[in-house]
Amino acid sequence: MAHGGGARQVKLDRESELRIEVGNDAPLKLRLLNGTAEIFGTELPPDFWLTFPPRLKFAVFTWNGATIEMDGSTETDYTADETPNISYVNVHAVLEERRHRAKPLPPDDPNSQGPRVIVVGPTDSGKSTLSKMLLSWAAKKGWKPTFVDLDIGQGAITIPGCIAATPIEMPIDPVEGIPLDIPLVYFYGHTTPSNNVDLYKVLVKELAQVVERQISGNAESRASGMVINTMGWIEGQGYELLLHAIDTFNANVVLVLGQEKLWSMIRNVLKNKPGVDVVKLQKSGGVVSRNAKFRQKSRSHRIREYFYGLANDLSPHSNIANFSDFSVFRIGGGPQAPRSALPIGAEPAADPLRLAPVNINRDLLHTILAVSFAKEPDQIISSNVAGFVFVTDVDIQRKTITYLAPSAGELPSKYLIAGTVTWLET
Ligand code: ATP
Repeated sequence: MAHGGGARQVKLDRESELRIEVGNDAPLKLRLLNGTAEIFGTELPPDFWLTFPPRLKFAVFTWNGATIEMDGSTETDYTADETPNISYVNVHAVLEERRHRAKPLPPDDPNSQGPRVIVVGPTDSGKSTLSKMLLSWAAKKGWKPTFVDLDIGQGAITIPGCIAATPIEMPIDPVEGIPLDIPLVYFYGHTTPSNNVDLYKVLVKELAQVVERQISGNAESRASGMVINTMGWIEGQGYELLLHAIDTFNANVVLVLGQEKLWSMIRNVLKNKPGVDVVKLQKSGGVVSRNAKFRQKSRSHRIREYFYGLANDLSPHSNIANFSDFSVFRIGGGPQAPRSALPIGAEPAADPLRLAPVNINRDLLHTILAVSFAKEPDQIISSNVAGFVFVTDVDIQRKTITYLAPSAGELPSKYLIAGTVTWLET
């Protein structure tokens, strides 16, 4: 049911939830009046008004009953008493037990590694939501699990087109999401993996190696384990990429959401791998399907948020630089070998990992460029990125480029990576 606004109260029985889609134009205020309730694993503070931005879709769930007060308009809001949350919290309990078992063991004991959970399933099955719940429940108990986001389409940690990892030290803020300040980010540059599957795999491998290194030196992180969120692409090459991610991160718990077939396929493939559990879980009836247009919109909002903050609370800087201040590269696409070097009749295949310098021209207008941490061009593919800039003008005559960056001052490196991620500032 949609609501036009005004303050109203909703009483929730135990183990039920209030599902909300905030209206398109105005934020929604909400507070917990009594009882206890959580949003995707994070407890609501009592009596404190929270403001949710337009279009956000979420649920307020209570284990023991609660009264919620809302102020503002919604696209829909309704209560549901059927949720899969008991099965989700049971998974959490099993993970907790494994963390406790891992913690006292010395680092050279393979069992000192806590659970490495990977969440897989079709699009709109609630993967990101389940990942958040598991992370927030773990953080609430004092663990520091690592969140790995392999979903380049939406990006729960940073902007779309990237894969990233970050330690979660506190339950995830239901409004702000994951703090953007310390993640380890690799720029893939596209929002669909099929653009360059090889590059995607290479980046997943790089990310896994660095996370592995960071975790191995820290008993607490190691015992806390990981939660890995994946893409909804589960057919053909997408399926291969899932298996690749499971393997690369040495996942030992695979949670399959909402699809029997995928569960049985993965279980069959992994049955000879001892120590890997493949668990089937129900999709929540509350998960909202998002069409291509909505996804495009939320990608755009995510980029806006990177530069301007969720509540317009950041002030990005417009900078002007000379063409010669930067070297821009693109990964993949170019021919692998000259035609003359190939057997007669053979077509040169595009080398997916070829690093090609990009001429700065107006084609770069409105694109997002990643700022690489690489010291030399040949390190670009294996380097993570410091952040992003947005190209707002290219002056061919003056040979200058104007870009928006999160802050003023020199960029941490002169190596920039271009992809196909664009943005129209709105
Ligand atoms: P993707 O296809 O991008 O991989 P996903 O499987 O990760 O999607 P989510 O992002 O978790 O799916 O969920 C889709 C949307 O549904 C999100 O906006 C999320 O906040 C919302 N959602 C999930 N669970 C609920 C619920 N119980 N009640 C209301 N909204 C929900």
